[in-house]
Amino acid sequence: MKAEKQNYNLHIRVNIDESNKNEFISTARFFKERYKKKIIVYPGFVDGIEGCKLSDCLLDRKKKSQFLIELYKEHGVDVLGFYPDDYRYECPVRSPYHHVIGPNGEFYKCWNDVGNQEKVIATLDKGVINPILLNRYYVAGDPFDDKKCIDCIHIQTCGGGCPYLRIQNEFENKNIDTCDLIKDNLEEYLEIHYERIIKRNE
Ligand code: SF4
Repeated sequence: MKAEKQNYNLHIRVNIDESNKNEFISTARFFKERYKKKIIVYPGFVDGIEGCKLSDCLLDRKKKSQFLIELYKEHGVDVLGFYPDDYRYECPVRSPYHHVIGPNGEFYKCWNDVGNQEKVIATLDKGVINPILLNRYYVAGDPFDDKKCIDCIHIQTCGGGCPYLRIQNEFENKNIDTCDLIKDNLEEYLEIHYERIIKRNE
């Protein structure tokens, strides 16, 4: 089958931190110019999921948010994930139908756990071996148990952020920021959202 008849979209994630964020634009342009269509190049922010103190090279929430706004306003790059159109999904961590399978047939609830034997929830031969952790992933870290989230105007679009990180905060004594990037720049995000809808409907 010739390439132009193939029916697919290709998404290329470029991992971003302070050390390479200024190279994102040239990287995105390289792919766009070389392959023309059906390629979406987007930044994926590198995070410290262990909740360790942010090193100098990781971007915090405000810097991530500002980076996306600058991409749009200064370079016309419309990346995924400005104001969400809809929010009707749940993270695989909470879903009974999603698992990550490791190389030895072991099951995890999140890819962040792969390789950590303490986070294996089931194996092919034994079935569920860690029901406490499994149940924790299903029900803990609920934003509706968190006054900060209940009082927050973003809860319908944010959903409390990553449940995996919320559970780390609750059970592993971490203090990881789970808030939405929109939170500090709501006005600008709404303006961009409006512009995108207008352009989409032109
Ligand atoms: S933005 Fe922060 S406080 Fe608001 S719902 Fe999301 S996680 Fe909770």
